Amino acid sequence: EQIANQIAAGEVVERPSSVVKELVENSIDAGSSKIDISIEEGGLQSIRVIDNGSGIDKEDCELAFLPHATSKILTSKDLFQIHSLGFRGEALPSIAAVSKMSCITSTQNTGLGYQIVNEGGILKTIGEVRASKGTDITVKELFYNTPARLKYVKTIQTELSHISDYIYRLALAYPKIRFTLTHNGKMLLQTLGNGDLLQVIAAIYGRTIAKSMVQVDCSNLDYSLRGYIAKPEMTRSNRSAISLIVNGRYIRNPFLNKAILNAYHTLLPIHRFPICVLHIQMNPTLLDVNVHPAKLEVRFSKEKELMMFVEQELRKLLQQQIL
Ligand code: ADP
Ligand code: MG
Repeated sequence: EQIANQIAAGEVVERPSSVVKELVENSIDAGSSKIDISIEEGGLQSIRVIDNGSGIDKEDCELAFLPHATSKILTSKDLFQIHSLGFRGEALPSIAAVSKMSCITSTQNTGLGYQIVNEGGILKTIGEVRASKGTDITVKELFYNTPARLKYVKTIQTELSHISDYIYRLALAYPKIRFTLTHNGKMLLQTLGNGDLLQVIAAIYGRTIAKSMVQVDCSNLDYSLRGYIAKPEMTRSNRSAISLIVNGRYIRNPFLNKAILNAYHTLLPIHRFPICVLHIQMNPTLLDVNVHPAKLEVRFSKEKELMMFVEQELRKLLQQQIL
């Protein structure tokens, strides 16, 4: 059974950033307003996520580490219609199966909570400890018992860039959550959680860039666009400078990327991309339902209309900048 768990774990836990993703998404689902992430050695030595969310009940906490114990049955295929990011109840047991994991959690403000220690999917200890409300999970020595998996992990720098890239996206998607990210004790990101998207942009890209961004704020009957786009001279060599958040969820979509690049049309040097953070709100019925959430992909039912709208509105803003 332990082997089965390790195989199942491989599907959820591909690399250190997968652990970070699952833990932080749980913190968001728990309604946290503050999430602190600290990483050691690209996440291979240690990943710690502390939140101030709902905490986990003692019974749930024991169950949460057993395979599929918390699996929620999906009645709607449309993940954009359900509120939480998690739905399979696979993450915690999968992570526990391939690491040494400790979870301290409390659902109350009494100063007391529970700690569960797990090693390779085997429960080591469980007991009452001092704890403030929320959850504090530490994952150490990831893949220590699955050497084959460890071989696929790249350099510390590569793993760290996967992690920070993902946390930056979440910070941009949730400007009301206070995030910190540290690596080997060094602070890489600190957001204020005051809902100010421009502050998050400043924390990620620097103040100079943030100050030069052009604000987007417009809507039509179907869509509302909110965010910031860089002036054409502020460019990156990397496509990932474009961050798209649809109904609060970070997504990837080549057509929207194209619409944004079209708006810049003659304004961008070749192979350069604008920094652009766009929150798009729409009726969930305008989103295609048959797309897997883990891939962050989505399709729009009125794709052409949406593209046209984004392209036109952004072009208008950019032209005002030039005049
Ligand atoms: P899923 O997120 O798919 O439900 P997980 O394995 O990620 O499955 O988590 C199992 C359950 O444990 C969650 O549904 C949630 O009830 C609880 N949980 C996990 N992490 C947290 C957290 N940080 N705060 C509160 N509850 C949590
Ligand atoms: Mg989850």
